[in-house]
Amino acid sequence: MSDTFKKLTAVRGMNDILPGQSAAWETLERLVRDWLRSYGYVNLRTPVLEHTRLFTRGIGEVTDIVEKEMYTFTDALNGESLTLRPEFTAGMVRATIEHNLLYDRPRRVFAMGPVFRHERPQRGRYRQFHQIDVEALGYAGPDVDAEQILMLARLWRILGLNDIRLEINSLGTPTERAAHREDLIAYLEGFKDQLDEDGRRRLYSNPLRVLDTKNPALQAMAEGAPRLLDYLGDESQAHFDALRARLDDAGVSYTINPRLVRGLDYYNLTVFEWVTDRLGAQGTVCGGGRYDGLVELLGGKPAPAIGFAIGVERLLELWQQQELALDASECDVYLVHQGEGAARQALQLAEAIRDAGLDVIVHAVTQSFKAQFKRADGSGASFAVILGDNELAEGAATVKHLADGRQESVAFAQLPAHLVTCLVAAESNEGPATGNTPADSV
Ligand code: ATP
Ligand code: MG
Repeated sequence: MSDTFKKLTAVRGMNDILPGQSAAWETLERLVRDWLRSYGYVNLRTPVLEHTRLFTRGIGEVTDIVEKEMYTFTDALNGESLTLRPEFTAGMVRATIEHNLLYDRPRRVFAMGPVFRHERPQRGRYRQFHQIDVEALGYAGPDVDAEQILMLARLWRILGLNDIRLEINSLGTPTERAAHREDLIAYLEGFKDQLDEDGRRRLYSNPLRVLDTKNPALQAMAEGAPRLLDYLGDESQAHFDALRARLDDAGVSYTINPRLVRGLDYYNLTVFEWVTDRLGAQGTVCGGGRYDGLVELLGGKPAPAIGFAIGVERLLELWQQQELALDASECDVYLVHQGEGAARQALQLAEAIRDAGLDVIVHAVTQSFKAQFKRADGSGASFAVILGDNELAEGAATVKHLADGRQESVAFAQLPAHLVTCLVAAESNEGPATGNTPADSV
């Protein structure tokens, strides 16, 4: 079939977020912005496209992301190799160095938006997905490490999620990791014959990954392997202990998972993941850790740092499994009208009502009052305002309270203030609303 006749669809693994779904996204984003602000994080926005070498250098050539998941292409105009960001951290650090943001003080920054990985699409795993990315740059910890974890515990509380559990580990320093790696390879070589093809391939390139094996026959091998935690020097151990003491102080429970590693090369010391059993195989909602070497690796003056990324699709799925009382209404006031004079008056009245702080939809196609009322009901508005010949003649609109069907006549000049008063009264009867209240908007 020629390309012209092919049905146009979104790219595989990349989702449209439809009007019915976006209320949950927007509510989550609003809660998240307030939460970030309460810890002093400010927004840093970087481009979706970066030079490929930022990621090959930053994330590491032999990681899954760089080896097989990146959307990389050559810019046809100048031959440069560019990549759609597969994660935020590298770009955030690049921007921090490029604009010298650490010259006089450390920085707490965040970003939210799409990232791209060429993975096999399945539940919880997409090719375009969204992250909330949070980075504390220039902080050596362990205070900020603990603060970031406490901060996440608070977010789960804000969202009413009580079944996300925390796993932590320490990766030590690169030297400590190298010593462990040598012993681990020697240990694994003793099991070479039992390893599958993947295991044998990773034995020398990424031996920690060999321990991830799902093969039941190899669990004893994995359990008995040298543990990175036993290779920590005094300083690394003190850092880990101090982190644990702070989590204990705050009553945050965790398990130490000695096999927890992250899929990127740049991590050291603290690593953590938040995991749930409610999402099937893709149960990791958030992953983070310390990356003290990255700023220098990318050309900056050495500076310690720690950060984490939340997978928004997974978090939303988890959140939506609970009963959400989201405000899905499109407006407060739906204006229905009939006739040329009423149509003109409707536009003016709608502007006046918006001046008073309410959200207004003016019906936009000529239809019977009946059809217009149906739309008004469907919009979730609190009021329909009706304008016809009678209303024009009297200079007063008919207000229909859509919750109980009550109707009243209100002079045009009094209409905006009257609607605000009614809405405030209705919402104080209902208790706190999840959506915009007139108090936010007036
Ligand atoms: P996984 O082990 O699930 O592949 P990861 O270690 O590759 O995750 P990170 O790079 O740490 O993930 O990204 C942070 C978060 O982004 C993850 O914890 C997860 O919630 C989410 N995430 C990662 N990959 C995807 C994807 N392809 N689709 C949707 N969400 C994802
Ligand atoms: Mg992955």
